[in-house]
Amino acid sequence: MATSIHLDTVRKEFRTLGNTHVAVDDLSLDIPEGSFTTFVGPSGCGKTTTLRMLAGLETPTSGTVSFGDEDVTDLPPQERNVSMVFQSIALYPHMSVRENIGYGLKIHGVPKAERDERIDEAAAVLQIEAQLEKMPAELSGGQQQRVALGGAFVQDPDVLLLDEPMSDLDAKLKSDLRVEIQRLHQELDTTVVYVTHDQTEAMTMSDQVVLLRDGELAQVDPPKRLFDYPNSEYVAQFIGMPSTNVVDCAVEAGDGGTALVGPGFELSLPAGVDVPAAGRVRLGIRPQYLDVGSEGACRLSVDVEVVETLGTESVVHGRLEDGTPFDVVSDAVDDAVAGDRLDVSFDLADAFVFGEDGATVL
Ligand code: ATP
Repeated sequence: MATSIHLDTVRKEFRTLGNTHVAVDDLSLDIPEGSFTTFVGPSGCGKTTTLRMLAGLETPTSGTVSFGDEDVTDLPPQERNVSMVFQSIALYPHMSVRENIGYGLKIHGVPKAERDERIDEAAAVLQIEAQLEKMPAELSGGQQQRVALGGAFVQDPDVLLLDEPMSDLDAKLKSDLRVEIQRLHQELDTTVVYVTHDQTEAMTMSDQVVLLRDGELAQVDPPKRLFDYPNSEYVAQFIGMPSTNVVDCAVEAGDGGTALVGPGFELSLPAGVDVPAAGRVRLGIRPQYLDVGSEGACRLSVDVEVVETLGTESVVHGRLEDGTPFDVVSDAVDDAVAGDRLDVSFDLADAFVFGEDGATVL
């Protein structure tokens, strides 16, 4: 039975050679029962340490971890109904694929007929039916990782913890496996917690994304909300590909109201709209939210440096007149080449304004 998970001011300190390092810094969080929740963030932000505390492989320095109403903070891993799949694949080399997937069930005394049924189901979803009687050494890396996932899923855990299970796979295998993991999740009554530093995986698979920064919660929200309403410059830059353009602007008060003045453009704020920060702010504009041409309220010019064509759309990497890097994603720039000057525009409603401390102010 899937369970909800609650972290209440969970802290993990590591002490090495007299130094104390705070890996997870008073993290409080609710993970809904049966959800697919992804922890994402740059290397060292505390994702794996948090996952290991959910597994019972690390004990928090302070705070509590609960599954439903039960405080599991000090429960050892074997007393939690949790399965975990790691980045490095751990299969038993002397057992067939079928035996590997069914091993966890066997040691829990599940009869062979039921074991086989569950193995066959998982193998069908993961598309490894033809490999079931093979040995691990005969499989590709992607197939081996599917076997490891199958072994975790068939145990029908309350909580399934996945730590970067796709990081060693190529792009095509990753995108196939993303779909298969979601299919398995839909078929089973399991709460999945997934760790990755890849924001594409986080955005495509999850019901909710937990973005960490230096052991602290930066933002938790469903993917679309995180994309559209980042609470800070850090979140806006981490989520989205290519990264959000961020431009330094002066805040100038004039007769017609307040304007944000950046390199080569001036954005007038509508009457009644003001930014709390005086002096300077940073304006964030997603490359996808720029119009080529002059339809938007604010126009600016981009000196084109590199154009990447992605099929239906292109990514233009360029700079504003003061050298600020600035990218544009559009299906209307097919013929842009390095050296061109591209006129683009945007509306205030599609932009973010960040104050001096990096928090979103508008
Ligand atoms: P990555 O994406 O690189 O795996 P992460 O976000 O999963 O990173 P963690 O592995 O949780 O990060 O590590 C968080 C911080 O805690 C890092 O600074 C790391 O060096 C430190 N850390 C993790 N485990 C230990 C340990 N056993 N002893 C000392 N420091 C540790």
